[in-house]
Amino acid sequence: MDFTQIGEVLEGEPKYRLAQAKRGIFVDLVEDWEQVTAFPKALRARLAVDFPLPIEAQTFGDTKMTAVKALIRLSDGKRIETVLMRHTDGRNTVCVSSQVGCPMACAFCATGKMSLLRSLSASEIVLQVLFFARLLKPEGERVSGVVFMGMGEPFANYDNALAAVRMLNDHDGLNIGARHISISTCGILEGIRRFTSEALQVNLAISLHAPDDKTRRELMPVARTHTVLELLAVVDEYIAQTKRKVMFEYLMIGGKNDADEQAHALAKLMQGKLCMVNLIAYNSTGVFVPATRERMVFFKTVLEQAGVPVTVRFRHGREVKGACGQLLTKEDAYVLPSDVTDAASV
Ligand code: SAH
Repeated sequence: MDFTQIGEVLEGEPKYRLAQAKRGIFVDLVEDWEQVTAFPKALRARLAVDFPLPIEAQTFGDTKMTAVKALIRLSDGKRIETVLMRHTDGRNTVCVSSQVGCPMACAFCATGKMSLLRSLSASEIVLQVLFFARLLKPEGERVSGVVFMGMGEPFANYDNALAAVRMLNDHDGLNIGARHISISTCGILEGIRRFTSEALQVNLAISLHAPDDKTRRELMPVARTHTVLELLAVVDEYIAQTKRKVMFEYLMIGGKNDADEQAHALAKLMQGKLCMVNLIAYNSTGVFVPATRERMVFFKTVLEQAGVPVTVRFRHGREVKGACGQLLTKEDAYVLPSDVTDAASV
């Protein structure tokens, strides 16, 4: 499905058909053109061939669970993962992939091991949200937010990621408010600068993961292209221009970035900034060990004492191997464990 082609497919039809078609896809969430009864029969039959609506996907988990993962098959046969997170407060957030695989090769991330197969088009990003919007519809629920925290680096696919944001945001479409969309980057400075100039209400999240260059460079190859201070200077500029709060993600890895002095260094960097820190439990990808809960609580306390807003994300989606950093396109890797454990809220 390439949403930018709907207009072309409808060429020769009355102009208002385009709005009707978009309404059918994004508002009524039809999965079959036959359901668009405003269209003449012949047009419905033609669209079924020229613009088919089915999305081919395998889902893991069901909508009763806190996380549902879908493995979506793209038109070229490649597969991407996307995760629906159901929060206890009723929000439904979709975590979308922006690329098939990822070029950034972060040491702790399963997707990074795949390397980059290709970037996704804007439509392929939106498709992931549409899939879950359809899944939620029978419950009378909708997708309330989108985070670009699935496979891939959104700022390594900048134009398509931003085009997807605009499509998601479309008032006549899925109508997801910009404030409910977040883009997470591993720290591509040029992307952050461009994003600053967009003047959008979309949230920015930065994968920091270490307060010092040495550790950050060991964890994230992208950190070799800049220092933590250079990254933070670019983020400060973003904050100054947009007045928007930035989220810093900090993965907690045992013996790597969870030492006392790292907690204090992090607090010092964050102090006084319009930001919040999200401490994230490392989901094992077989490389490192997770930091203990005690270490996470210590970091939280140090940050709080420094006046830095902080949240702790213990786990989400682990039971469907849809947790952060576990997104890896290999179907046979998804055997659902029977002991669905304590998936907690973000
Ligand atoms: N490339 C972007 C978007 C991917 S989401 C970025 O780097 O920000 C990346 C987030 O996934 C990281 O910030 C981290 O919060 C999470 N993540 C990656 N690997 C993880 C792992 N093994 N365990 C838990 N979270 C992980």
